[in-house]
Amino acid sequence: MKRPSATWEAVYKADRRKHHHRCRACNRIIATGERALMARAARGTVAVHLDCADMQVVDGHTYRDSMEAWGLAGLKARGWRVPELDTHYAR
Ligand SMILES: [Zn+2]
Repeated sequence: MKRPSATWEAVYKADRRKHHHRCRACNRIIATGERALMARAARGTVAVHLDCADMQVVDGHTYRDSMEAWGLAGLKARGWRVPELDTHYAR
């Protein structure tokens, strides 16, 4: 079975959700109809606006990179093999 991707882009829908996500980059609530980058992290789904995804956290590191890392950590927590993380965090 192919590993799911760490992140995905979606037009944010709130209808089926109990609460809206807060953007990890600008900290505003993500509204219905806004484009978002989502990741299923180890402790639940996280999201940033698509417009915020390429904002830099530090030089050369964007929120998109953080989302990828959180998503990969989430996949690993759910039992997927994630060799990329083994490269970064040697055991
Ligand atoms: Zn944002």
